Amino acid sequence: MIRREEFILHGSLGPPVECSHQGCPHPAIIDLPYAGSHLCKNHFRAFVEKRVRRELHRQAPGLNGGTLAVALSGGKDSSVMLALLVKFLGMRRNVKILAITVDEGIQGYRSQTIAKATELTQRLGIEHVIRTFNDELRTTMDIAAKAIPNLAPCSSCGVWRRGVLNRAARDLGAVRLAVGFNLDDLAQTVLMNLLRGEPHRLIQMAPHVRKESDFVPRIAPLASIPEREVYLYATLQDLPFDHSECPYATRAGRNVFRETLWRLEEALPGTRHSIMQTREKLLQVLSASLPQTHAGRCALCGEPAAGTFCRSCSFLESVQTARAPGQP
Ligand code: SF4
Ligand SMILES: [Zn+2]
Ligand SMILES: [Zn+2]
Repeated sequence: MIRREEFILHGSLGPPVECSHQGCPHPAIIDLPYAGSHLCKNHFRAFVEKRVRRELHRQAPGLNGGTLAVALSGGKDSSVMLALLVKFLGMRRNVKILAITVDEGIQGYRSQTIAKATELTQRLGIEHVIRTFNDELRTTMDIAAKAIPNLAPCSSCGVWRRGVLNRAARDLGAVRLAVGFNLDDLAQTVLMNLLRGEPHRLIQMAPHVRKESDFVPRIAPLASIPEREVYLYATLQDLPFDHSECPYATRAGRNVFRETLWRLEEALPGTRHSIMQTREKLLQVLSASLPQTHAGRCALCGEPAAGTFCRSCSFLESVQTARAPGQP
């Protein structure tokens, strides 16, 4: 098993190497095997910012004003995303940026990340909205994980968080919801969806390519930045972020995809980019042939649903059923 830290540090340079940028005399701080280059601190920062700016234009070409909601967990990805969005759009009078943090109710973990998220929003002067599973769903991840021990907690957590974020962004009048998925996250998701035989999910995942009613379109500005580059950028910019990992992460079904992708990328640099290009090509075919995925309404909560009940209510029902009568 490859440890997360090993991968993030993997590829760090041994003996000093010069920056690959023409004429730059500075030592490189990172190697980028997929690009065949080594970059110094300044050129690395510029390289990250250039790609994020490009993604922003590509994914939200019509963002001419309005409220941009940013999902902020307090981890490195969403912190880098928020800092860059403020850098690129913060001066625009017609754009309002606000951060939304979801508290899933995970003891010993979430309070630390929320503290970092609050610190960052205060530093950047951004409005910070916090929504909790407890208020919104009358449950917490600790309760759900205990009630259904044989279900990977991330399955319900992901569905619930998406729902809470979407409702919050919609209530706040946001025209877009920015989420902090990096290149590794997205390539893993594409691989998972394909290997599970669920290609229609390639449309539902961020960045959204078509508007579904009642869903605030999600953009993923870090879509072309690998995880270890996000980490390095956050460190170089001295951004406040929490390093700890959710206690339920080890039970996540995607771990095997994460490790497989690390091995593939090591053997074949550029694999993650190729996977994302494959998604782009498949989307051209899929979006023309697949109907809207949430055509109906959930009979319980009224949110968009593919069947009688939405996935959020189905998970809540499972938790209620599994909990012993009289349990708090
Ligand atoms: S690791 Fe899983 S359970 Fe923990 S916050 Fe993320 S999605 Fe939720
Ligand atoms: Zn340089
Ligand atoms: Zn529902």
